[in-house]
Amino acid sequence: MSSTLVVNVLDLLRRAGAEKRVDVVAVAQQFDFGDSRIDDTSDVSVSIELESSSTGIVARGEARVGWASVCRRCLRPVGGIVVADIDEVFSREVPRHRSQSDDSLAVAEAEPLVGDQIDFTLPVREAVLLAVPDAPLCREDCLGLCPQCGADRATTKCSCPTFVRDERWAALDALRGTLDDAVE
Ligand SMILES: [Zn+2]
Ligand SMILES: [Zn+2]
Repeated sequence: MSSTLVVNVLDLLRRAGAEKRVDVVAVAQQFDFGDSRIDDTSDVSVSIELESSSTGIVARGEARVGWASVCRRCLRPVGGIVVADIDEVFSREVPRHRSQSDDSLAVAEAEPLVGDQIDFTLPVREAVLLAVPDAPLCREDCLGLCPQCGADRATTKCSCPTFVRDERWAALDALRGTLDDAVE
């Protein structure tokens, strides 16, 4: 499968400090997200700045894609555009065998640069899947559904009794009942 996310970096590798910008709109299906929150037919906009260094290539940018899910409290449909950060280092150096004493984070996190092409399909896929919200809310103060009758508390005021979880509050409620009676 030919992919527009495969970038030829030969020109970058010839000179440290060389830059290249990649702007690609790819169909979500290409990333094989396998995630119900992302429609396979939607577009993924990828924009990456590449810069070569003496040891490899640094790639920074973002991927944007629409997502759709349901509110974790009221199950109302929610969705939006997710912006996933791309931040990758591709090292030209042959990776040393990692040992316990290797505390160089940059080396540990760098991907090996094989040949003169970089395929951004996997980095974009991983970044997007991390960025799509796992348990979204339709709004910060969503009241959710009544745990007893299932009514949407944002629109419906059901008459279910409020659940009392704590004995101390139950005692207070009883006391308040007598006080209210006295006032009225
Ligand atoms: Zn909600
Ligand atoms: Zn209810």
